Parts: sequence; structure tokens; C-alpha cells
Amino acid sequence: MALLETDGLTKEFGGLTALEDVDIAVEEGELVSLIGPNGAGKSTLINTITGRLTPTRGEITYAGTDLIGMEPFEIAQLGVGRTFQTASILPELSVRENVQVAAFAAEHGSFRVNFLSRRDSFDEVQRLTDDILATIELDEKAGMEAASLPYGDKRRLEVAIGLATDPDLLFMDEPTAGMSPTETEMTVELIENLLAEWGMTIFLVEHDMDIVFDISDRIFTLHQGELIAKGTPDEIRDHPAVREAYLGG
Ligand code: ADP
Ligand code: MG
Repeated sequence: MALLETDGLTKEFGGLTALEDVDIAVEEGELVSLIGPNGAGKSTLINTITGRLTPTRGEITYAGTDLIGMEPFEIAQLGVGRTFQTASILPELSVRENVQVAAFAAEHGSFRVNFLSRRDSFDEVQRLTDDILATIELDEKAGMEAASLPYGDKRRLEVAIGLATDPDLLFMDEPTAGMSPTETEMTVELIENLLAEWGMTIFLVEHDMDIVFDISDRIFTLHQGELIAKGTPDEIRDHPAVREAYLGG
């Protein structure tokens, strides 16, 4: 059984069909990438699977559990995490506090938590926070105000916030967007580390085709809401419909 499966997943916004009958399956431990031009429906697919959007039709199953109708925090509690394309950082808090808040929110489904009455979970959150800050290489900047971080560090903090829910499956929506080559390289290393050291399954949306073809186990290609191809990087590179729709012939 696949870790994640969608069947006939469809999302309409008024008259616009952003996703049409999308069937995907992701196996545990895989790195799959989702490619497709702007407006293809990539973010909509992530938002639908993670519960921010309600699908018009279709099924979503994670580890045997039906996700339709579940709240985003319930889906996060099952082990499905995500990073955001737009900033999710609380700018006035420190780097460390940002990760802590996300970890508490993940555990309790809201920010309204009586920290001191939950000593066990408090200690657990501290341990998880330390692990994440080390993985993300922000441990030396843990006390800095988030707003004062350089761009690449801010984007890695967004990944850290996604990791704070302690996911088994992590969705990453364009994690290298706007990054310098050095920052991009750090992010790719981080993704490889999450796969190898954390044993995570990763679902990546990425516009840099060199990265996609280099690190993916399999690639899904969306075009105007429809999945036009799925396969290994070699299969996708040679796929006529992909070449025509996306890689420029
Ligand atoms: P991508 O991430 O591949 O660039 P999106 O999933 O953001 O594409 O968008 C797919 C299509 O759905 C686009 O035409 C976009 O304008 C539309 N869309 C996305 N979100 C909404 C929304 N909340 N309301 C209406 N239309 C939307
Ligand atoms: Mg998008």
C-alpha cells in the first residue's frame, strides 16, 4: 500500500478546474517532485492534500486513513507536514521561538496551550526544537529575531517550521525560490539529509529542473490541472507530452 494516494482528485474554483482527476501514489521513503508551469495546480494539489482546501471530488488516503473532511491540524498530527511558499514566520519572535510555537501548535491543534502544565510535552518540544535547529543549521542563530535573518536563513526557518510537526511526509512548495546558488545548494543538502537521516518521504514542488532531475526518485507532471506524465527522471525527460507542454519540445 502506498503511503499517500489520491484517486480522481478534482478541485474547481467557480468555473476554473484547477485539478482534474488527479491520481498519484507516493511510496514511503521516496522523493517525488511535482513539476508544471505556473498555474498548473501544484500549490492547489498540496493545499488540498494538507486540508487547506476542500476537494470538489475524489479521494485522498494517507497511511490507510481517509483525509477528506479532516482539519489541517488533524492531518499534520497524522504525520503530514508542509513548508509554505509564502512566509509563515512570526517576525518578532526568535528563531527558536518560531520552531517552538509551531511544535506546540502541531501537538495541541492550537496556539492556546498552558505550557507549564505540560512538562513532558514541554521537554519533548525542546528536544525536537534542538534537533531541528541543528539539522537546518540555524542552531547558532537560535536567539536571533526571525525578522533579522538573511533571506536564505528565513527560507530554511520556514522548512524548520514545517519540520516542527515532526512529519513522516513533508510537502515542500518551491523551497529554493529566490535563493542564491549557495543557499540553493544548502537547501538541496538539507532535503537529502531529511531523506537519509530523518527517513522522511518528501513531496517537492521545484522550478529548477536541474535539481528535480538530479534528486527525484519519480516526477509527476501537471499541466492545466491534469497529470500528463509520471515516471522516473529518465522517463519524464523522454516523455513526448512533457517535452511539448513544459520542456520546450
Ligand atoms: P501553481 O502552484 O502550479 O502555480 P496554483 O495551484 O497556485 O498553481 O493555481 C492553479 C490555478 O488555480 C490557477 O489558475 C490559479 O489562479 C487558480 N487558483 C488557485 N488558488 C485559487 C483560489 N483560492 N481561488 C480561485 N482560484 C485559485
Ligand atoms: Mg504554486
